[in-house]
Amino acid sequence: MRLSRYFLPVLKETPAEAQIVSHRLMLRAGMIKQQAAGIYSWLPLGFRVLRRIEQIVHEEQARAGHIALLMPTLQPADLWRESGRYDAYGQEMLRVTDRHKRDLLYGPTNEEMITDIFRSHVSSYRDLPLTLYHIQWKFRDEIRPRFGVMRGREFLMKDGYNFDVDKQAALDAYNRHMVSYLRTYERMGLTAIPMRAASGPIGGDNTHEFLVLAQTGESEVFYDDRVTGLKLGNRAVDYYNPEAVKAVCEEFTSLYARTDETHDEAAFAEVPEAHRKVGRGIEVGQIFYFGTKYSEPMGAMVVNAEGERVPVHMGSHGIGVSRLAGAIIEASHDERGIIWPEGVTPFHCGIVNLRQGDSATDAACEGLYAALQARGLEPLYDDTQERAGAKFATMDLIGLPWRLTVGPRGLQKGVVELTCRRSGESEEMSAEAAVERLGEIYAAHR
Ligand code: ATP
Ligand code: MG
Repeated sequence: MRLSRYFLPVLKETPAEAQIVSHRLMLRAGMIKQQAAGIYSWLPLGFRVLRRIEQIVHEEQARAGHIALLMPTLQPADLWRESGRYDAYGQEMLRVTDRHKRDLLYGPTNEEMITDIFRSHVSSYRDLPLTLYHIQWKFRDEIRPRFGVMRGREFLMKDGYNFDVDKQAALDAYNRHMVSYLRTYERMGLTAIPMRAASGPIGGDNTHEFLVLAQTGESEVFYDDRVTGLKLGNRAVDYYNPEAVKAVCEEFTSLYARTDETHDEAAFAEVPEAHRKVGRGIEVGQIFYFGTKYSEPMGAMVVNAEGERVPVHMGSHGIGVSRLAGAIIEASHDERGIIWPEGVTPFHCGIVNLRQGDSATDAACEGLYAALQARGLEPLYDDTQERAGAKFATMDLIGLPWRLTVGPRGLQKGVVELTCRRSGESEEMSAEAAVERLGEIYAAHR
């Protein structure tokens, strides 16, 4: 993308309405625009990040054997009357009436609808296990929308639902989700700690929330700090081997880590004092096993291997896709702006032309731009007439992890400069070597 032809409405001033750094930076970097309380447009730069986050979610769901579909945002109220949640959900639910006076609602979650799909098409244990998911906009009429996309009213969520013949199989699905979520967050450059949680209106007795540690998090968290050092890395986990999956879950949940809702002082006191930490966290996902809570009232039954008709065992699993854009910034920024992890960056690198209009410099930039694209990378080329200082400030603000700086002085020596946004370190090298280096860096993030 050439900046001269892009739409990147960066702000010079710090917006007064934003209380936390991610919200400020998303507004300043021209990523979002508020349209109503808790309702945002995603401007081109923000939209690219959102799509990258979605892409990682899809890839990791596919790896775990889960199947994507798409359910609508509007749902008939009658489905929710079957489960008893239409009245129970309260004011957070946005209720709508159509021209025929039929009650609809803008979905805050999709347990009822997916159960309806399941009961219409599946009746035998032979079709199980089955996990279906989608990434779709949700609406919850939050009493206090705030912190930008972190607590919106309209927000993008990945929600997945597993269907299994009995409790054990459903717990295997639960564990599989835990591991796939760990991998998902790691690819986004995040450490998200699974913490035992309380169940809330979705219901269920087995549930973990995934929290990213951050001062601005809304949850109070209590943990053994050795949990922050656990990494999945590149290890190959066989998702079709429940014992192997369970072993990974045990590794990640054996150290103390809980939110205020489930915190237990006595158990916490057993953590060695040097490792006992109290902090704050952002909830970026949650997994639940809730058994037959929806399948029983809604009649989602399967015939098991013994020939009996039994209600299917279910769980639901959510990732806050739009919240993640904010959470990643909370975890990765400095005083100059955002620092995108390679996995979610909106562009792979920036190209700064220090002397736009100088034919040799322009030609070198064009060459780099084409060579990077030929390697499958997406550069953002600042080909505007701005001063160098302003170009650097914009690149630092929007946080691309790598920047190539091209100027007449370097070109005389046959080099361009490659700068790492995170460390601030620069290195001079030939244009070919820079393209090669960036290609290698991003190959490690595929
Ligand atoms: P919270 O406790 O933050 O209100 P929740 O527990 O009600 O969230 P879930 O039903 O678990 O939310 O939804 C799955 C994920 O969707 C959450 O882990 C969170 O990341 C995200 N999410 C929930 N509510 C919002 C919101 N209002 N704005 C943005 N993301 C949200
Ligand atoms: Mg939750």
